[in-house]
This record gives sequence, structure tokens and C-alpha cells, in this order.
Amino acid sequence: MTRFEGKTVIITGAGSGMGRASAILFAREGANVIVVDLKEHAARETVEIIRAENGQAIDKVCDVSKREQVFNLVNGVIDEFGRVDVLFNNAGVAMPFTKTEEVSEDLVNLLVDVNLKGVFWGSQAVIPQMKKQGSGVIINTASITGVRPRIGQNMYSAAKAGSIILTKSLALELAEHGIRVVGINPVAADTGLLRDFMPTDTEYEVGKQKFLETIPLGRLAVAEDIAKTALFLASDDASMITGSFIDVDGGRGV
Ligand code: ADP
Repeated sequence: MTRFEGKTVIITGAGSGMGRASAILFAREGANVIVVDLKEHAARETVEIIRAENGQAIDKVCDVSKREQVFNLVNGVIDEFGRVDVLFNNAGVAMPFTKTEEVSEDLVNLLVDVNLKGVFWGSQAVIPQMKKQGSGVIINTASITGVRPRIGQNMYSAAKAGSIILTKSLALELAEHGIRVVGINPVAADTGLLRDFMPTDTEYEVGKQKFLETIPLGRLAVAEDIAKTALFLASDDASMITGSFIDVDGGRGV
């Protein structure tokens, strides 16, 4: 399939995990992918994977929590490619399971700056161009914990919940311009991240088992689960969908 031939797709946090998987799948379907990440080497590696498959991609370093950097990135893409068809606000930071009274001010700021304000800056930057085009799709990665909280994920859940209502709010505002704004609520994916929070083998096995008990389908997500959903939401097959979230969570949020 080549659903995204001739389309310019910006994906943030595309240096790893769900963002990288999405970048690869969008490129396979013909998109010109702008691979954005805080980590230069990670973004470049994603681009190399795509180019090895004869796909089109370029890497850009940007901290999505910095408004000026985000605007420079988006304006550069518009100068170079003339349009932005899809913005996938996927960059995010997780938090270790932490009791509320032990969460640092720096962590609170980081969670809000990246997971909530980052989505806002990205959207703000692409809206004028999408309005000019009379079309565009903004996809936001939130989290099922933004709907159904987990103990120890206090400010992470709150920032993600903020991004959910922001998505719906922008969807209402932008519908008349032909711009759809949609989101995905993933359950935890079995990435290195989960492992980082549970450093020993035993902790990891016990922790993972506890996690699995909360997911009716009995497995953690994989990056491709989220990526395939993003492609659907960005495609014309989803042309009647705006302001909605798809829970890619194995039933955890039910
Ligand atoms: P997931 O499982 O959600 O895909 P990862 O940690 O694998 O999680 O991916 C998140 C990506 O987002 C990482 O590549 C990370 O470098 C990137 N990222 C984190 N913070 C920012 C930021 N402020 N700006 C841009 N990219 C970021």
C-alpha cells in the first residue's frame, strides 16, 4: 500500500520505540518522513533503517519542550518540502513509579514540558500551514494511564490526561479547516524503559507479571501496535474521525 505517497510526515520521538516503528511504516507507504528526536544518533539510526529500504527520510534534532526549537523545525520543513500533512506528536518521557511526596520539582516540570506543552508547541507550529492547505492530521500519543491512572504515575498520568483534552479541544477548533486531531492511548510497551524502572531480573519478572495481570489480552504492547494505529488514523480511512482516541491497551482501560 502507498497511502502516504507525496505526503510529508513529521514524527517526534522517532529515534526509538513507537516513533521509530511509525517512521518505518509511514516510509514504507511512500511518506517523506521527518524523523525528529532529542538524540541525534537515535534519529539518524532511524533514517538509516528507512533509507536501507529505499524509503525517504531526514533526521532533525529538536527538543519538543522548547517552543523556539519546535517552530524552527516546522518552518524549516515547510521551507524545504512546502507542506506538512501529518504531525505525530509522539515524543514523551516516562516516570519511574514514585510516591507523590517523593516526586521532584524537576521531574514534574519535565513531564509537563514534554508530554503536555510539547504537544501544544508542535500543534501551534503546524496549524498555520495546515490551514493554508485546508488539510492535515495531528496525532498525539497520550497514554491509557491518562484515562485510568496507575499508582505511582501521578504527574505522568496528569500530563497525559491534559494532552487528551487538548487533543479534543484542538479537534473542535480546527475541524472547519479540514484538520483532524486524534490520539492514541497505549498501554506500556515492552521497551527498555520498563526494564529501567525494575533494574534486577527478579524485580523485572515480578513487575512485568503484575503489569500483565492488569491487561486483559495478557501481553504488553509492541511498538508496531501503536504504529499501525497511527497510520490508520493518519489515512483517509479515518477521514470521519476527529477528537477521538484509540486505546491500544489490550483492554486495560475498559
Ligand atoms: P516509547 O516506548 O514511548 O516509544 P521511547 O523512550 O522508546 O518510548 O521513545 C521516546 C523517544 O522520545 C526517545 O527516542 C526520546 O529520545 C524522545 N524524546 C524524549 N524527550 C524528548 C524531547 N523533549 N524532544 C524530542 N524527543 C524526545
